[in-house]
Amino acid sequence: MPDKDLTTLTIRRPDDWHLHLRDGNMLRAVLPETARHFGRAIIMPNLVPPVVTAEQASAYRDRIMAALPDGMQFEPLMTLYLTETTDPDDVRAAFENGIATAVKLYPAGATTNSASGVRDFEKVRSVLDTMAEIGMPLCVHGEVTDSNIDIFDREAVFIDKILKPLRKKVPDLKVVMEHVTTEDAVDYVRDNHKNLAATITTHHLIINRNHILAGGIKPHYYCLPVAKREAHRVALVQAAVSGDKRFFLGTDSAPHIDPNKLQTCGCAGIFTAPNTMSCLAEVFEAAGELKKLEAFASLNGPRFYGLPASEQTITLRKGDPLKYPTHIATEDGPVTVFDPGFDLHWHVEA
Ligand SMILES: [Zn+2]
Repeated sequence: MPDKDLTTLTIRRPDDWHLHLRDGNMLRAVLPETARHFGRAIIMPNLVPPVVTAEQASAYRDRIMAALPDGMQFEPLMTLYLTETTDPDDVRAAFENGIATAVKLYPAGATTNSASGVRDFEKVRSVLDTMAEIGMPLCVHGEVTDSNIDIFDREAVFIDKILKPLRKKVPDLKVVMEHVTTEDAVDYVRDNHKNLAATITTHHLIINRNHILAGGIKPHYYCLPVAKREAHRVALVQAAVSGDKRFFLGTDSAPHIDPNKLQTCGCAGIFTAPNTMSCLAEVFEAAGELKKLEAFASLNGPRFYGLPASEQTITLRKGDPLKYPTHIATEDGPVTVFDPGFDLHWHVEA
């Protein structure tokens, strides 16, 4: 049946392979927005202070589960924040005991709370070797932080300067290039079949840099990596809807309260957890590939991580345009929900 005639779509329950839940009041407010539709998520460790050790990851996991409303099911897959003093034995124990699923690499200074990240990659070599040995994936924020490199070029430069040499030194390491934003990254993943995958966010499939900068600055479309020009967005859509097993959903849903977004130096991050599945259904339908949504959101991620796909399902049903709230309330202040700029017709029955 052509996509235009499809009005319902049942898929395995999706997972989010890149998510920021924060902590405290924010955690309590945003967790249900993800758990409503998603079964699992890779939880980013960039708290203040960051989640570096197995013990910290275990404690954070407990706080997440304590914040989960009664009756909701959700499995947080924890990550450890890689620093130049990370202990390989602690990483190994965290993985083997099921406390952590992956390690997160932030080049120092790349994004929100990344000051503890890595400057000298030789200092983390023993950790990377251990991860390669035990099959633990490295999630990579793929941008250089050199202030001389144009912000729109930082992902492409990262691939050449950091990622290629790193993968050459540790070829058995499983690497997830997170939130790819460029055709360069899509091509690099397509050309490298072993131990490499990429996540794509909801918003990078929908916005380009004009959305941020044309006709007045739009802080709620500002995130890192920053959205690029339209040709790159088109390449991302093609990768996402292709069914290629190396591309899967990582929303990078990253809540900040509005006062922290709307100021002279506003925070990077877009909050897409509530309406991601409705947004994605529109993107896949427009591309005529609605039936590939399950591969992107529910199948390719667990396959790369070596985990089973969900046994549960959700159903998307097409109808009148939906009204998602424009904000959610937290005890710290309101958080603006991503506005895709078009009507959302696909209702999620989870
Ligand atoms: Zn992120």
